[in-house]
Amino acid sequence: MIAIHQNKVINAQSLFQPEIESQRKKALTKLKKINKNQFNTNEKDYLREVISLFEDNSSIKIIECNPSYLSSLVSSIGIIPPNSRFYKNGKTKKKLKQFILEALNYSYLRSSFYPKYFREIGVKSCVYCNSQLSITAVKSRDVYSAKFDVDHYYSKDEYPFLSISLFNLYPACSSCNRAKSNNKIEFELYTSNHKNTTKSNYNFKLSPYSKSKYLTTRDSMEIDFYFTEPIYLNPSTKKFNDVFHIESIYETQKDLIEELIIKSQIYNKSYLKALKYNFSKLSLHPELFKRTLVGNYTQDKDIHKRPMSKIVMDIAKDLDLI
Ligand SMILES: [Zn+2]
Repeated sequence: MIAIHQNKVINAQSLFQPEIESQRKKALTKLKKINKNQFNTNEKDYLREVISLFEDNSSIKIIECNPSYLSSLVSSIGIIPPNSRFYKNGKTKKKLKQFILEALNYSYLRSSFYPKYFREIGVKSCVYCNSQLSITAVKSRDVYSAKFDVDHYYSKDEYPFLSISLFNLYPACSSCNRAKSNNKIEFELYTSNHKNTTKSNYNFKLSPYSKSKYLTTRDSMEIDFYFTEPIYLNPSTKKFNDVFHIESIYETQKDLIEELIIKSQIYNKSYLKALKYNFSKLSLHPELFKRTLVGNYTQDKDIHKRPMSKIVMDIAKDLDLI
């Protein structure tokens, strides 16, 4: 996993300022239309506080506020009050949470706004596993459309008023989104610390003799690699592999490593030097040359741009290919 610098996100937000402002205004109008009389006192108070966050004169920019503001809102406003709405037969009526989510229009933004917004930030793959795109085809009224899948750092079940707050959105594939559910993991996607944006905190490595075993047997099942977990500040944190099953996902991708081993045999140092010389007229940036060679991005800072980039760059480095 690797973090994204907050400044990059703030720059992207500034490009979409009119759309973000329109999201806030529409949400405010719809929130105000919710009939408060159907809720109990706690729910009414909660809704009033939520509405105030979206008001024109609010001191907080609820959609753009940074992670530390989000954290202070979570402390000051808290979890949505328990649902008190039941029919006489014991079934639940539409909950306040659903009213808020609908007013904020999170579902619609998944296909309309988030694809272009996250493209601007440079995120296309799942920020947790990096093995899949964070986009899912969803069927609605017999028509499929591509929707951006995002995990909410503060869950939309507990904090529906943060469901469209941009720093609360973590692009994730549907299986990681499901796997994470309400599990707490130690990872903050958005940071103000440059150090966390240059180096991924998890890694893949070929097991010793894996390459030679493969070259002897030509059996990709002989290829073995291991996954190194991040260093956790809190030792009781749930391990990444336990939540997202990283090792078993990548265990199915040994053919990818097989190709890298073969490339490392073909593209030795002198051949690479000759290639660079012969195609110097292309004026390829060194990173683009390496990317073309391995078929994926080769720097940690670019992991989110394409699925499988982390394993490819780590193993390619291990093989001295890049
Ligand atoms: Zn994933």
